[in-house]
Amino acid sequence: MKIKNYINREFVNPISNSWLDNYNPAIGEVYGQIPNSSKEDVEKAYQAAAKAFPKWSNFTLEERSKILSKIADLILEKLDFLAEAESKDNGKSISLAKQVDIPRAASNFRFFANAITQFSSESHESVGLNAINFTLRQPIGVVGCISPWNLPLYLFTWKIAPAIAAGNCIVAKPSEVTPMTAHLLGKICNEVGLPKGVLNIVHGLGTTTGQAIVEHPKIKAISFTGGTKTGAHIARVAAPMFKKLSLELGGKNPNIIFADCDYEKMLATTVRSSFANQGQICLCGSRILVEESIYEKFKKDFIQKVADLKVGNPSDSSTDIGALVSKQHLEKVKSYIDIVEQEGGKILSGGLEVTLPNYENGYYFQPTVIEITDNKCRLNQEEIFGPVVTIMSFKTDKDALTLANDVKYGLSGTLWTNNLNRTMQIAKQLQTGIVWVNTWMLRDLRTPFGGAKESGVGREGGFEALRFFTEPKNICIKYE
Ligand code: NAD
Repeated sequence: MKIKNYINREFVNPISNSWLDNYNPAIGEVYGQIPNSSKEDVEKAYQAAAKAFPKWSNFTLEERSKILSKIADLILEKLDFLAEAESKDNGKSISLAKQVDIPRAASNFRFFANAITQFSSESHESVGLNAINFTLRQPIGVVGCISPWNLPLYLFTWKIAPAIAAGNCIVAKPSEVTPMTAHLLGKICNEVGLPKGVLNIVHGLGTTTGQAIVEHPKIKAISFTGGTKTGAHIARVAAPMFKKLSLELGGKNPNIIFADCDYEKMLATTVRSSFANQGQICLCGSRILVEESIYEKFKKDFIQKVADLKVGNPSDSSTDIGALVSKQHLEKVKSYIDIVEQEGGKILSGGLEVTLPNYENGYYFQPTVIEITDNKCRLNQEEIFGPVVTIMSFKTDKDALTLANDVKYGLSGTLWTNNLNRTMQIAKQLQTGIVWVNTWMLRDLRTPFGGAKESGVGREGGFEALRFFTEPKNICIKYE
């Protein structure tokens, strides 16, 4: 199966005719090829987008909204097909793809189809000066959207839907590790009649194709989700060109558990927040901090629950833990297991690669729980982004907060307590963009989404995303 670039509503070969292999992580084998796109392919996509922009930006909001809604409808119609494609490409369990990834991709389009019809801007009357100011929010033009492999269609569409809703045209690049559902989205856009050039998808490596998008002098805004190191590099490249940047980066999120919480609910959710999608969600609570008085009980119960998780082939609906996304990523996760002892940790459960009968070459790893005592250890400071969590105890609210904030990241935090005062004190002082209290990953698409510290710059979601994808212009009218 050969995936092609999607430019001007057409599926085209890369100009250089150079290709990359695409792997199925469940079996560790190549199952397709994707374009190894060059700067010239990005330029071709840019030209298509630039040509489409004057017309698309003048579509009425109702017209744009209708097309976005149709895309949402079609994603839902093809839910099973898309979920199977996502699971095969990424290694995630089919049930997760069906319940989370694909429905959310549809919701992204549905949400922004509605949001754009409600989006408004401010006006300021300059009292006593006979002048009225109003803010015009105009689309930027051609924008770049670059997404990672962990939630492929979910995160790709989280950028594309607001960008086109706001009237921009796009040069987009999904992760080279998981290109399939972005390719299928191109087909869906053709089916619903998205005009040519509004969305263009170029496939290829970050360091070449992605870099060419970021370096393109006429692509004036970049919406990026991925690793912190890549985000810092993109910021360095884009800054001298004064591009607008939205950076959604890595995390090392604390999950703070107090003795006064609803224990059973916390336990079940903590299993999910630790290991959903093999722990490959930027929002996973990979640092579990437990109040001393319930620490031993939690440790025992948690390990028991984790032991029940089934590592299996992603296409089996009873699988809890599917395959990791790539051989390279599996090696990265294993490299952290290698340093457990030297970092003063102790593996309480898991820690081993899994060889599944009939799928011996797939990239499977046990859900792993590591007990640590020093928050400064690398296991607690670096993003592992796999099925690996650490647990440690704390004594006081102040200790919990200090430990939680003692990392360079600041994406999200989870808090388990039934004490309102404690909730407010800790939620206010956590240095993260998102705080969940007595729940995890409950998403309302109207809310600002993003991270503090080295987890990113800017916010996605709701009107924040529409603000990002528009340029505000103040118009001042003087009257007599
Ligand atoms: P990555 O940074 O390696 O790649 C992300 C995307 O950027 C890919 O499409 C890649 O090809 C591209 N890229 C790489 N180098 C580039 C360059 N020089 N110029 C332009 N583009 C380039 O990240 P990944 O390994 O795909 O994803 C995992 C990371 O993403 C984790 O750190 C995770 O926390 C983060 N993430 C963050 C969020 C969030 O919302 N904050 C969500 C999901 C994932």
